[in-house]
Amino acid sequence: VYQPPGQPGSIVDYRPRYEHWIGGRWTPPVLGRYFENPSPVTGEVFTEVARGSAEDIEAALDAAHAAAPAWGRTPPAERAQVLLRIADRIERNLERLAVAESWENGKPVRETLGADLPLAVDQLRYFAGALRAQEGGLSQLDEDTVAYHFHEPLGVVGQIIPWNFPILMAVWKIAPALAAGNTVVLKPAEQTPASVLLLVELTADLLPPGVLNVVNGFGLEAGRPLASSDRIRKIAFTGETTTGRLISQYASGNLIPVSLELGGKSPNLFFADVAAEQDAFYDKALEGFAMFALNQGEVCTCPSRALIESPVYDRLLADGLERVRGLRQGDPLDTATQVGAQASDEQLRKILSYIEIGQAEGAKLLAGGERADLGGPLSGGYYVTPTVFEGVNGMRIFQEEIFGPVVAVTRFEDFDDAITLANDTLYGLGAGVWTRDGTTAYRAGRAIQAGRVWTNCFHAYPAHAAFGGYKNSGIGREGHKAVLEHYQQTKNLLVSY
Ligand code: NAD
Repeated sequence: VYQPPGQPGSIVDYRPRYEHWIGGRWTPPVLGRYFENPSPVTGEVFTEVARGSAEDIEAALDAAHAAAPAWGRTPPAERAQVLLRIADRIERNLERLAVAESWENGKPVRETLGADLPLAVDQLRYFAGALRAQEGGLSQLDEDTVAYHFHEPLGVVGQIIPWNFPILMAVWKIAPALAAGNTVVLKPAEQTPASVLLLVELTADLLPPGVLNVVNGFGLEAGRPLASSDRIRKIAFTGETTTGRLISQYASGNLIPVSLELGGKSPNLFFADVAAEQDAFYDKALEGFAMFALNQGEVCTCPSRALIESPVYDRLLADGLERVRGLRQGDPLDTATQVGAQASDEQLRKILSYIEIGQAEGAKLLAGGERADLGGPLSGGYYVTPTVFEGVNGMRIFQEEIFGPVVAVTRFEDFDDAITLANDTLYGLGAGVWTRDGTTAYRAGRAIQAGRVWTNCFHAYPAHAAFGGYKNSGIGREGHKAVLEHYQQTKNLLVSY
């Protein structure tokens, strides 16, 4: 068990107050306002953070514009080197960042240590490599004509991120943007700014001043002026679908590209052959069923709809429930904990209200369904027990994104029925398919309208695998070398010698 920040023996020391990070230094908010940041682990405030406004966004844009020409001209090999150094620095401080993020977000430290931060490191190394692989582009059209392609940075870009993976979301955004030679103004979520700021502080000496700027604060006060600014050449956003629509509207007047990673209601399909034997494959599928509780369900691809083929419905659900009841919920700073706290009081209340809605609509509650009191100092924390509903067809809990550890389970009769149910959603971000049959897996993978279909696995996020949404889940992709070009202008010189 790690000690909370500020306690004797803790490896994390949060500052009592954070300002903005602009032009390579801490910068107080122009309007002088701050907001309190509580830890979901105990509900206690541990730091206060600058509450940004349009004035702070302007200051950050000034710094980003001042830094843009030199950073854009920095040779790709050098920029790649900077990303690699940042990756190394994170890796060397992995434990510290992992505990810090767990404290601020409520997620189990085993996840931040074992998955979130290693994935952030991988993302930086991947885009450093992708940038190097872009070099050497020249094509000869005929004897005397040559096409040169130059990848130019867009310039200054704006990025707005949510709170569910504070550091990983920041790195997903900044790695391709910085690799491509852009300078960035980033607005973290108001629920989790401090772990992002810790990362920025830790790597401050590796980037020239103004290349990466962070303005904290709330959506309408700091996010909106950033997304609406005519001084950015792209806005990249991750968050709710309703917010994504607004971002798109703000940006449309400036005719800039928008990338939107939005919500989801991902189906997880279990075909009958999964339960043909009680073997390691079946075991892995049950683990896949319980994955709706990973990160307390606060994952955009949370498999929040489980679809099970009729002949094995009862057995698979019973075994799945046993798996869910066996998940260890507890202190996020305990490395044995599998399910921690929801990220905020607001999120806790939203989830509990959806559980009430499900019950009021007549869904059958099979597990969980309540706020957990973990006792002692954790009593004030935001814990919800992993929750399973069945009898959910047509209900709101089967359609709307809850963003909590709640799964709605139903049955399907055959392949076509499974695909119809899977696609009966406004979203299209992730999906899971579990089957021992390669053809079924392929056909389902192609038929499901979602940007990422996991087959016989779930919640893997390698840096090279393209990630993004169909339908209301967004526009654009992240995490693939093609994303570099979304942060670049492609200049063509066609020369006849
Ligand atoms: P949110 O939309 O409320 O907030 C996200 C960010 O946008 C925050 O930084 C917030 O301050 C800012 N914001 C809010 N209103 C704004 C406005 N009017 N103008 C500019 N900025 C504004 O989302 P959230 O609750 O923080 O995050 C949860 C959502 O994010 C879920 O819907 C989840 O599915 C989604 N998500 C998607 C992905 C993905 O890759 N598709 C990944 C993680 C989370």
